[in-house]
Amino acid sequence: MDLTSPRTIRDIQDKFGFTFKKGLGQNFLTSQTVLDNIVEAAEIDGGAIEIGPGFGVLTSALARNSDKVVTIEIDERLLAVLEYTLSEFDNVKIINGDILKLDIKKIIHEEFGDKKISVAANLPYYITTPIIAKLLEERLPIKNIVVMVQKEVAHRMAAKPSSKDYGAITVLCQYFAEPSVVTPVPASLFVPPPKVDSAVLKLKILDEPSVKVKDEKTFFKVVKAAFAQRRKTLLNCLCASFPIPKAEMSCMLESMDINPSRRGETLSLDEFAKISDTLTK
Ligand code: SAM
Repeated sequence: MDLTSPRTIRDIQDKFGFTFKKGLGQNFLTSQTVLDNIVEAAEIDGGAIEIGPGFGVLTSALARNSDKVVTIEIDERLLAVLEYTLSEFDNVKIINGDILKLDIKKIIHEEFGDKKISVAANLPYYITTPIIAKLLEERLPIKNIVVMVQKEVAHRMAAKPSSKDYGAITVLCQYFAEPSVVTPVPASLFVPPPKVDSAVLKLKILDEPSVKVKDEKTFFKVVKAAFAQRRKTLLNCLCASFPIPKAEMSCMLESMDINPSRRGETLSLDEFAKISDTLTK
């Protein structure tokens, strides 16, 4: 069954009386080339987890290249469809649930033991950032996360300091992973086409975070504070979140060669780490 064919998609819709739910980000991929790009970038070594299989187009590609695929789908209506479209595979397990509510650590441990897995997905765009944050913050045994996201989001994750795309989510990604944009994907390659263009983003998970900090909580508190009000100076942003007198905070920043009147978005991860370590008791 060629699940990349819009004709096949229509036939399956007719067979199961399926209508797309916009609210669940149901835009199905129709490009074999992009599927190949995703599978190659995922560097699967045995096991893979997918989020949101839809009709199973990426699931099939993953199943052909893995020992085992676990795929998580929120929409109950798709369970019968997936049973039909994935019937040729005996290495796919479908879990019906919300990725944001499931205990992914437990699932990976139960399904794959101690082996590191890859995550691949054409993500529902309404929850891209919380999904990526969850996968990174839970420190799961993952090698690579390869996900289709809105083009702007891919550029945000891979952004450099001082660019307009650089934000708190950039720092989160680059703390835990090495991000790169695999390929741009035009909206015309989906059924139905979304309103925005997309890109495949790869997050190669680092063995150790990219900067060493005394206390991770303080590090992310500094990052959050620095980006909370982009038009304010770093000094004002930090003073709004840490109970330290302005003059003292200013001296502290200057002693680290960081100009207090800079904007948060100009700081590198190393500079965030320096500030965080100085603020850690
Ligand atoms: N993988 C298919 C493809 O590439 O054509 C479908 C991708 S579609 C962009 C996103 C899929 O994620 C849909 O099947 C949707 O029902 C599912 N989904 C949406 N929210 C979800 C959630 N919270 N947890 C799990 N799956 C979700």
